[in-house]
Amino acid sequence: NKTENQMLVIFGASGDLTARKLIPAIFNLYKGKHLPKNFVVLGISRSNLSDEDFRQRVVYDSQYLKDELNGANDAFVKGFADMLYYEDLGDNYDTDYSGLRARIEKLSSAHGTGSNMIYYLSTPPNLYEIIAKNLSDQDLTREENGWKRIIVEKPFGYSLETAKELNDALHKYFEEPQIYRIDHYLGKETVQNLLVTRFANSIFEPLWNRNYIHHVEITNAESVGVEKRGGYYDKSGALRDMFQNHLLQIVSLVVMEPPIGPNAEEIRNEKVKALKSIRIMRDEETLYKNTIRGQYLAADVNGEQVKGYREEDGVDPESTTETYAAIKFFVDNWRWADVPFYVRTAKRMPTKVTEVVIHFKTPHHQIFKDAGFANKDNKLIIRVQPDEGMLMKFGVKVPGQGFKVERANLDFYYSSLTDTHVMTAYERLLLDAMQGDATLYARADEVEAAWEFVDPILDYWANGKEVRTYGYSAGMWGPQNADDLIEGLYMWRNPGKN
Ligand code: NAP
Repeated sequence: NKTENQMLVIFGASGDLTARKLIPAIFNLYKGKHLPKNFVVLGISRSNLSDEDFRQRVVYDSQYLKDELNGANDAFVKGFADMLYYEDLGDNYDTDYSGLRARIEKLSSAHGTGSNMIYYLSTPPNLYEIIAKNLSDQDLTREENGWKRIIVEKPFGYSLETAKELNDALHKYFEEPQIYRIDHYLGKETVQNLLVTRFANSIFEPLWNRNYIHHVEITNAESVGVEKRGGYYDKSGALRDMFQNHLLQIVSLVVMEPPIGPNAEEIRNEKVKALKSIRIMRDEETLYKNTIRGQYLAADVNGEQVKGYREEDGVDPESTTETYAAIKFFVDNWRWADVPFYVRTAKRMPTKVTEVVIHFKTPHHQIFKDAGFANKDNKLIIRVQPDEGMLMKFGVKVPGQGFKVERANLDFYYSSLTDTHVMTAYERLLLDAMQGDATLYARADEVEAAWEFVDPILDYWANGKEVRTYGYSAGMWGPQNADDLIEGLYMWRNPGKN
């Protein structure tokens, strides 16, 4: 794909995300020669920094580029740093972008970047509308000479209502195809590989339905707690922070029907359809039975005494905000009728892992059922992180007399495919936006469909009569009640062991 000359304007350039993810991603695009010939980055914040201060901060002194810069050629690094500029908007941040407009015009004519612009909003979300309005007031959103795109970070809304308000606000100033809602999970190779696994092979898709799949499990586990984000997290919780966006995006790729083709609109049409077919839980009894929330409690984890969630800085000592969420739900369509989905996300788990597990049904007639192998062990595991790859579990005969059956693994690691650099999620997504490919960005209706499902759960957790918050020891796999969600002889696959 061709990357046209353009300017990338980052709002919130003095912040953590810019230094930690965006600048390293742009550096790697520079290293991989993916940037267009004429390109500049203009960082914007209220902090008083010169161009040189900004370069020093996000390149030369950056802890996030330290490894990359180690041993790199000075002129090469300077070539990158010199592409970065900074504008301090000070008090004008909320009100007047005439100075910004003048700076953009000056940089554009000095560097020949033309009128193609990406605005990356890496600020608190309450500024998204203000920034969009101010850009529009200065005629910086009109696509007459070149295209204009806006990338917005998560969180996209706090509820269905606020997500709709945010969509409406952005739509006042930008058309939907100009808006790129980033979900960095979609930038991960293994998440994209779900599409290839399903739709480039003939060996999975015929089984990918209620006739052969017993249930689907998705786990996102983090070993860390809330770290320094206690204040933010306590107002958000696991359901908003991880489930509504990243995990439901993964669900939509597992659930969706084959798209007509691989382009952004066709894929996203199918994802929306998938999200809309998830059965929304509304009555208290259903919500009580199928949703579990929990909070980690103080414990000794590998010799380290860690705090409980309610003791963390910035967290209300009586907080009911969940650091653990497990949800069971159904998808009401022809393919998935009666197949339970179990999705959980949590902090302070024994390990850091994200994976999708497709649990296949037992063969209808089991001639080897006494042979030592539980047929329920047929699984396809898609490891999203770490050690990205896929694992297929099936039974094989143990050599020797008789028919003793044992479990075998077919294991594939992404890292074995290439020894060249695999793009990080932010690299991939930024490059896609630079090339105008929105396939891996969430569309307005997708975001709203995800909130439609999540909203009643949040409402129940906030106001329900029977609602509980279960404690679990830090470093363990969560509350017992979540184990009881899964029916029959099945259990959560607690990864890292088998
Ligand atoms: P941050 O470190 O707090 O940075 C926020 C930036 O916005 C700063 O540059 C700050 O600069 C500016 N800012 C703050 N308050 C402002 C205000 N009232 N008016 C104008 N500018 C203001 O936050 P961050 O971690 O970089 O996150 C930025 C966005 O990305 C947030 O929406 C966050 O939810 C999202 N996000 C972050 C991460 C991450 O890993 N950090 C991951 C996913 C999503 P000045 O004070 O100099 O103006």
